[in-house]
Amino acid sequence: MGFRVRNLPQTSTRASSLRWRKAALTPKEAAEFADAIQSGRHLKDVGPDGPHYLPLPPKLPRVVQFAGRAEPSVLVARGVGYSLDATVQRAKEKREPLLTPHGFFRELKHGDAGSALRFLREFGPLHWTQGNLSAADWIHLDDFWARQARFVAVYKLWHALRDGDEAIAEGWEWIRSNHSATRLPGEPDLGRKPQQTPLPAKRAGMTPVAVPMPWSVNEQMLQLLSVLAYGEDRLWDGMARIDSHSSGHQLKRALAVALIQHEITWHTRDVQTVWQIEDDGRHVRYSPERHVKGLWAAMWELLAAETRSGHCWRYCKECGKPFYPVQVNSECCTPEEQSLWSKRQWARNHRASAKENQA
Ligand SMILES: [Zn+2]
Repeated sequence: MGFRVRNLPQTSTRASSLRWRKAALTPKEAAEFADAIQSGRHLKDVGPDGPHYLPLPPKLPRVVQFAGRAEPSVLVARGVGYSLDATVQRAKEKREPLLTPHGFFRELKHGDAGSALRFLREFGPLHWTQGNLSAADWIHLDDFWARQARFVAVYKLWHALRDGDEAIAEGWEWIRSNHSATRLPGEPDLGRKPQQTPLPAKRAGMTPVAVPMPWSVNEQMLQLLSVLAYGEDRLWDGMARIDSHSSGHQLKRALAVALIQHEITWHTRDVQTVWQIEDDGRHVRYSPERHVKGLWAAMWELLAAETRSGHCWRYCKECGKPFYPVQVNSECCTPEEQSLWSKRQWARNHRASAKENQA
């Protein structure tokens, strides 16, 4: 990890298919829980560790308020298993991002309990924290929504990269106004590195930043960042490419590219590379496979894989609907809208150049 050897045949690393469990929730339970969460009344307060159930007991509160948590938590039982690969494959055949966990998660109505429970029923929780040890698990909604905001932040920048400077500036503006929503309990903030050892006091310039937010960058810092990136042997890093002569727009773009890289790397840090055996009796080959253990990391792997193929889901420029493009450069969800959009685009460019000629 982290180094690149040139002039050698490239190995492409496949991702293993994840089998994941949905949450076992009936529509009736989901509706009741959503009600309880939304109203927030009559919730049982429990200590920070909460009750641990194994297996799921009948007649116990399933929606509670943990001490020290900003939102209620829901106890869900492990439901049926599904193959993530097959699910994503089907969604792509139908060109429908909302049938994938990463598309559906991006589009969730932030903070809406009903939406969260629909996601859990459809795709399961982001983590089953107790693994196979328990028949049920607590889903902490503060964690769930912080992760969703974090995911949205990165998708905003990713989609903006296609649309140019103004869209990128808007993406950063969204992050600036929603920064506290993207904060994950116990994890570094957007663009920050984990703090290995707690610093005795706040020392200027010592905060562990991997990618700074554009509004916090100054001239002096800018010169330091690429030097630091080289110094830490992070030649693969987006930060190493930033130079102090960049314009404001160039800087925002470079920081967006670097932040997406940083976040994908951070949230897939538990993914292991496993060397698989291919043995046909004569030749034995070892090839790397990314072994994904949970839905959260899997969604980041899916995002990254789509950037590689170029067939990332995107929003239709005409009707705004999310869709999977047939061609890498498709901007609209139907051929009719695509040709309509192209004509309008041509007219817009034509008007703009006519204006320029007049001036
Ligand atoms: Zn459309």
